[in-house]
Amino acid sequence: MTKHHTPGPTWACPLCKRSYGSLFTKCAYCTPMEAYHILHEGRTIDTVFFRGYTEEDVRHCLMQHDGYPQGIVVRKDP
Ligand SMILES: [Zn+2]
Repeated sequence: MTKHHTPGPTWACPLCKRSYGSLFTKCAYCTPMEAYHILHEGRTIDTVFFRGYTEEDVRHCLMQHDGYPQGIVVRKDP
């Protein structure tokens, strides 16, 4: 029997086949932590680590949930 509809927002990781419940393209085990530098008024004020976020994701997350000032700039560590 094949189920065509899986309840709940889960995806199978393309690498390890674990199911996971986020919108990332891979599960947390397969997505490396990456450094993002936070700049404000031209100075680096912080460095944070996330898995699989875009610079824009990080910026919104920090401003909306962590109280960082509006106008921060996020640069992913190359
Ligand atoms: Zn995985």
